[in-house]
Amino acid sequence: MAKKKPFKRNPFRDWLDCLVAVVVKTRDNFTCQWRLSPDCQGTLMPGDNNIQACHIKSKGTCVLALRWDLLNIDTACGQCHAHMHANPDSFGVWFHGERPYVYEYLNEPRIAQKWNVDDYLDKEKELLLKSIELNVDCIVFPVRNDWRGRFIRRSQKLR
Ligand SMILES: [Zn+2]
Repeated sequence: MAKKKPFKRNPFRDWLDCLVAVVVKTRDNFTCQWRLSPDCQGTLMPGDNNIQACHIKSKGTCVLALRWDLLNIDTACGQCHAHMHANPDSFGVWFHGERPYVYEYLNEPRIAQKWNVDDYLDKEKELLLKSIELNVDCIVFPVRNDWRGRFIRRSQKLR
């Protein structure tokens, strides 16, 4: 019987998930972009767990390029995020009507590529530059390992 490979988290992905989330929330001014749930929370404070960076194309199944594509992620409150997952079809129709060009872009056929270290670093650079443009304070990121910590210090130097 083949030995099951232990599941290892990819620190690049964790870090980029973290970085893209704060970029998107800052871009959207911590305000729910969907307002689809009757219980929509509207604008929340930075750091509130109920304000979330939500993927239009699920980050678990989309290609890596879309996972950190700013067009594929919106800020939404937990209520609207849950509403979206409970009603994926009507969400798709709504989104298509709201943002037809983004909808078309997200639905373009893409071939899944393997990313190497340089691909991750390029994406990180793009997101760091965006975060500087948006005045994101990178120090708010949790430092969970050396790899991330290294970049947090570097991003400070850039400013
Ligand atoms: Zn909402």
